[in-house]
This record gives sequence, structure tokens and C-alpha cells, in this order.
Amino acid sequence: MALLEVKDLSIIYRTPFGIVNALNDITFNIDKGESLTVVGESGSGKSTLALAIARLLPPNAKYVSGSIIFDNIDLLKLSSDEMRKIRGTGIFMVFQEPATSLNPVFKVKDQLMEAVRIRYEREGNIFDENKAISEIISVLKDVRMPDPELIIERYPHQLSGGQIQRVMIAMGLLMRPKLFIADEPTSALDVTVQAQILRLLKDLKREYGISILFITHDIAVASIIADSVMVLYAGQLMELGSVKSVMHEPKHPYTQALLSSIPRISKTEGKLPIIGGSVPNLLNPPPGCRFHPRCPFRMDICSKAVPNLTKVNDIYVRCFLYGQ
Ligand code: ATP
Ligand code: SF4
Ligand code: MG
Repeated sequence: MALLEVKDLSIIYRTPFGIVNALNDITFNIDKGESLTVVGESGSGKSTLALAIARLLPPNAKYVSGSIIFDNIDLLKLSSDEMRKIRGTGIFMVFQEPATSLNPVFKVKDQLMEAVRIRYEREGNIFDENKAISEIISVLKDVRMPDPELIIERYPHQLSGGQIQRVMIAMGLLMRPKLFIADEPTSALDVTVQAQILRLLKDLKREYGISILFITHDIAVASIIADSVMVLYAGQLMELGSVKSVMHEPKHPYTQALLSSIPRISKTEGKLPIIGGSVPNLLNPPPGCRFHPRCPFRMDICSKAVPNLTKVNDIYVRCFLYGQ
């Protein structure tokens, strides 16, 4: 059963230079207890999607079309107060910019304690401060936080970016929301910690049936955590399917290029050359398929019309190579 249903979602940003077409007609579901990884290069619209779902877009953004149904509630129809309640218990988000995520005037301990208190309340349990503290310390150890007993006595400005992200991930683990959104939460952390955090998120999904929306620019990460993968390019959803299908038999030329750029384990020289060209400027996106300026398979029609999302076996793909 779908916990999150996003349908035909389009978002723009108003800027002094014109309208940025950040997301176009995005449609996907996440089932209860399932995880979806969103993959795409910088500027493809990943954070915009996460912020749109949590209703945390900046004031210059506008929902142009579409709906977001979470747990049978139409989020775009809620008042700010109602939405705040959903963010308190239903949807938890770890931001890409860690500095903005914690409240600067409270110690880490107080903010994590509040997360535990909210969960106890939801589960109908009586809050016990000592029990909460030992749970907090244990979760901080799980996210490989050095000296958790000292860290919890600090204020956010006394922490590094990586430490703040660990506190945020710990907060999500303590809160156990229905949907955990993580926007590139591991890029500020070293590789060992990243692996540990991905494992923790996987446990969370298995043990508590929590759904996860995980954002990364690294398609290799998708296979570690996700059931499904969605590939975004310049605000267009190019491919969506199970990890197994997308990683082994990618249909879209862009996904194929992303996968061929994963460093081979046997080679040490790093990444293989990726597709030439760069991500288009979304103030003036290319017409038709937004990937056409870089696509080795482009045809005449590709710059004239936007391909529909078509189902090929169990994958949804937006490309004229698969008929329309
Ligand atoms: P990254 O990997 O760098 O985090 P992203 O995939 O998360 O990139 P977004 O941050 O969602 O991409 O940006 C999508 C597009 O919207 C980009 O063209 C970006 O410049 C633009 N954009 C993002 N935030 C704003 C804003 N507040 N005002 C105007 N344009 C914005
Ligand atoms: Fe390439 Fe055309 Fe497919 Fe776009 S629609 S990915 S340009 S073949
Ligand atoms: Mg981003």
C-alpha cells in the first residue's frame, strides 16, 4: 500500500533572472516499509523534491501542478499548523545543509530528548528521562558519534557539519517517523561512517516498517539501501524501477551513462569518463527531452516533443527509443 503518492508534481522558482523550471510532472509512489533512492547530478531537482514533500520550499518557489498524498492526506491542502504536526511525527527530514537543521538555542540533549518524548507520546508510553538519555547515548554510538556524553551537552554551533548530520540522523532514528527523508545525508561523512549510517537506515526500515526517501548523486549508493530507484535529469523523471532492474538493465541513455561512470572496483584510476556536456540551465531548459543535447542516441523528435513515461517490463522510462 502506498504511504506516499506524488502525482504530476511541477515546481518552479521565481528569480530576478526569470522562472527556474525545477521539477516537471514528477509521478511516483513509495509503499509502506519501502525505500526509494532519488539519483541525479547537481541541479537536477533532488532537494526541491524533498523540500516540496515536506512543504519546506522557500517563498520564491511555487507548486504549479500536482498532488502529494501522504498516509491518505493531501499535503498541499493542509494549513501550516497541520503540516507542522505531520513533520513532527509522520515525515522526518535530514537536510543537505546541516547548519540549518537544529535549533541554535537548545542543547543537543534537549532536542534529542524532545524527539524521544514525541515518540513515547505517540506510542502511549510514559516519558522517562533516564531511559530516554540511555536510548539517546546508544543511538549516538550507533551513528558513530565520538564522545556522545560530551556532545549532548553542546549547542549546535559547537558541532561540525558531520556531527550535526549524525545528530539529525540519530533524531530520525529516535523519532521513528513513517517516512524518513534523507537529502545527501552522508556526503559530509567519511566512508566508514557512511556505510554504517546506510546500514542503520536499512535496519530502521526492516525493524519498524519505516519508508525511506534517500537522495544521492551517486547511483552506486542506491543498491545499498533502496528497493526502487528514480533517476532525475534537469527536473525530468527519466527512469523509475526496482533497484535490480534499473542497475542491471537500465533503459534510459542517461541512466546507462551514470552507471558506466561508477568506478570499477578492480581499477584504481577513479571514475570513467561520463557523458560530455553539462546539466542544462533550468532558466531556459532545452525543449523536448531535456537530455537531448548530451544524448548519443538523439533523434529528430527528441528536441521537438517531451517523451511520455512509458512502462517497459517493470521499468518506467521517458525516452523515444521505447516508442510512444
Ligand atoms: P544538488 O545535488 O546540488 O544538491 P539538487 O538536485 O538538489 O542539486 P535543487 O537544489 O533541487 O537540485 O535545484 C534544482 C534547480 O532549482 C537548480 O537549477 C537550482 O539552481 C534551482 N534552485 C534551487 N533552489 C532555488 C531557489 N531557492 N531559488 C531559485 N532557484 C533555485
Ligand atoms: Fe536520447 Fe531522445 Fe531518449 Fe532523450 S528521448 S534520452 S534524446 S533518445
Ligand atoms: Mg540538493
